Amino acid sequence: MTKLSPRGATRTRTNGIKSFPKRHLLLVTGVAAAVMTVVGLLPSPQVEAKRSETELVIDEFQPDTPQETLKELASSEEKATPVETEAQRLAKEEAERLAAEEAALGKWNSLTIKSGDNLSTLFDDMGLSARVVYEVSKTPKLGKRLTDIRPGQTLEYRVNSEGVLTQLRYVQNKLESILYEKQDDGYVGKQITLTPEVRVAYGEASIKNSLFLASQNAGLSEKMTMELAAIFGWDIDFALDIRSGDSFNLIYEEKYLDNEKLGDGNILAATFVNQGDSYTAIRYTDSNGDTSYYSPDGKSMKKAFLRTPVNFTRISSRFNPNRLHPVFKTKRPHRGTDYAAPTGTPIKAAGDGKIKFTGWQNGYGNVVYIQHPNNVVTVYAHQSRLNKKLRKGSRVKQGQTIGYVGQTGWATGPHLHYEFRVNGVHRNPVTVKLPDASPIPKSERDRFMAFASKTVAQLEKNSSTMLAKNEKESE
Ligand SMILES: [Zn+2]
Repeated sequence: MTKLSPRGATRTRTNGIKSFPKRHLLLVTGVAAAVMTVVGLLPSPQVEAKRSETELVIDEFQPDTPQETLKELASSEEKATPVETEAQRLAKEEAERLAAEEAALGKWNSLTIKSGDNLSTLFDDMGLSARVVYEVSKTPKLGKRLTDIRPGQTLEYRVNSEGVLTQLRYVQNKLESILYEKQDDGYVGKQITLTPEVRVAYGEASIKNSLFLASQNAGLSEKMTMELAAIFGWDIDFALDIRSGDSFNLIYEEKYLDNEKLGDGNILAATFVNQGDSYTAIRYTDSNGDTSYYSPDGKSMKKAFLRTPVNFTRISSRFNPNRLHPVFKTKRPHRGTDYAAPTGTPIKAAGDGKIKFTGWQNGYGNVVYIQHPNNVVTVYAHQSRLNKKLRKGSRVKQGQTIGYVGQTGWATGPHLHYEFRVNGVHRNPVTVKLPDASPIPKSERDRFMAFASKTVAQLEKNSSTMLAKNEKESE
């Protein structure tokens, strides 16, 4: 797990310093350019969302602020002439080594695999015979893998002055490749797997129209947004309760290879403000190696009941016991929550329990009742289809699909009618207080609290840095 530092939000490349002390000049340029990029990309204060990268604490060389990083690097550039000489010497040596290798093995070339290509056509394009195809594909263990080639992948190869294929690199994806090398008696293969560099990034957004739009403006992927919603899905009903003015910020991982972003990693910490209520979640791995999200006071983010028993899509009506019934047009209490969703959308059990009833009921159509602990019963009505494997008495787990959205019974359009009953009384599931699921164990508490306070400080620090930046820009 990555350690966080309560430091600024400026994009830096300080983690490169440890591995490449000789590349100061390059780093200074990289850092300066990156800082300008961030500043240049920062949207105007009217824009609702923004993101930046925050640095990783990875070694003792790291100065306190990015500005100092720049200063120190710049001054070490001026003073440390011997280091530069050493760097130049190493660079020269490396260039000589590569030149000698190229003379012996040939220049690297590359082919991108297109649909319809096979090894024979590809080797033909490389100017190599069917005999070589046969030889390479006979490579012990890894030779067979060449039959897996897919369009978009690449073959990199070098042929020496005698026309011998000396090296072949089958690049499967950005992180995996196989290197085949010519030996006296055929080829040997080596699987090469690269580990992406993990950087910590910060993002924040305030919601004007939709969660997804705000996330997008903050530079977050859709996958990240879904994860954010999943983390807070026990406290916030993302289908019905998101309002303009809600906001969130988060610290998360991004995976890079050679400065190219490959994708996102985990959300490390996040705060979501929903209708004035603030929720914070911290990703924590305990000493047993189990990872989960907790509130800063050590309570599990997971609760006995999910707030939304269906993937959040579009709103039909909110919990309102006095609304006009859409079929009867009379003022008839609507004791439940309606989630309009396309027919066939899976319906999830809100919590662990036992099936109390599954089948047809007048008005409700296809309906499932689940009996939970503490005299809680949840009801899921108007289903197009029920999960046929479930019978009365079957055990269900939270999140398990119990059926599919439909409009059977008295329903004017496809929706899930969801009820939450405590001791037989209808309750609004959003406001009812329920016991929390497993908090941080006592033995972990000190360790967690220290970690949590550092992480929360990091979130706040980034948030205020962002705020200061906005104010400065609007001056
Ligand atoms: Zn309803």
